Amino acid sequence: MATATPLELRPLGNTGLKLSCVGFGASPLGNVFGVVSESDAIATVRQAFSLGINFFDTSPYYGGTLSEKMLGKGLKALGVPRNEYIVSTKCGRYKEGFDFSAERVTRSIDESLERLQLDYVDILHCHDIEFVALDQIVTETIPALLKIKETGKARFIGITGLPLEIFTYVLDRVPPGTVDVILSYCHYGINDSTLEDLLPYLKSKGIGIISASPLAMGLLTESGPPKWHPASPELQAACQAAAAYCKEKGKNISKLALQYSLSNKDISTVLVGMNSVKQVDENVATAIELATVGKDEKTISEIEGILNPVKNQTWPSGIQQS
Ligand code: NAD
Repeated sequence: MATATPLELRPLGNTGLKLSCVGFGASPLGNVFGVVSESDAIATVRQAFSLGINFFDTSPYYGGTLSEKMLGKGLKALGVPRNEYIVSTKCGRYKEGFDFSAERVTRSIDESLERLQLDYVDILHCHDIEFVALDQIVTETIPALLKIKETGKARFIGITGLPLEIFTYVLDRVPPGTVDVILSYCHYGINDSTLEDLLPYLKSKGIGIISASPLAMGLLTESGPPKWHPASPELQAACQAAAAYCKEKGKNISKLALQYSLSNKDISTVLVGMNSVKQVDENVATAIELATVGKDEKTISEIEGILNPVKNQTWPSGIQQS
């Protein structure tokens, strides 16, 4: 699919990086949403890069390291200079459980770089920090990541997780310029847009804002979410009803959901999980259409109406913070 309009690039806080507005979420390459063959994984990464996606996100947790390995193969197969793409991975969350100790995260980056076949990552995130005492992240993990940054193995530091309070807790307690980026998920989409309230605070601190899961991890797709999805039956049913309504009208819920998430330009990039060339084509076409034609306001507001009874409903994640 050749396109005349390039995918929009947006600045990531104070990092100096410019990320494509659609970012490539590589968790599906770890077979998180169904099996993806190695050749499909490589072709999907290639298609994303060739259509202007320059940002790729993974984690050692996705598929128990499989996602990092597959993304590494895909990026290597591009055969382009390293500075033409931006990669983030994470530390602290593994198939075996959580470990945000300085020792573990210091070892983790070396393991990730080996699997990714890279010398450095652009962003190293602490992955899902709500599952441990946040003071450990502030006093032990982030200082360890600063040392990693000094070695050049990671250029910038990020934190990720579901509850939005974790971001202010940490950012209020670390020196300015220590944490460069946050990655929030499932909080800026048609069914839940609570990240919006945090945007002025993040912008005032120059923090780069990555918003993931515009399709609510499969809730806003025609085929529906995977079995492990944590949403309540009520939220799942409402999203299914919205998807069915769109289908009946000859519209695609995933396209409308992505349009909604991409519309807020304070968000640097919207990370979508993609596991096929077709999904890459569709999602890039959605972004281009949004930039050239605009969004389908009417149908989006109809879906908002259907989802109104479950608006901003989320699910518990992590431990009780004292
Ligand atoms: P998502 O909302 O992006 O949904 C992904 C699902 O939608 C997959 O099943 C995918 O195959 C499907 N899909 C993609 N494009 C589609 C299309 N055009 N039509 C129909 N279906 C389509 O959820 P996600 O993958 O969980 O989130 C995106 C990425 O963000 C992840 O891959 C990961 O990189 C990152 N993420 C990070 C965290 C964290 O750090 N805690 C949490 C969630 C997501």
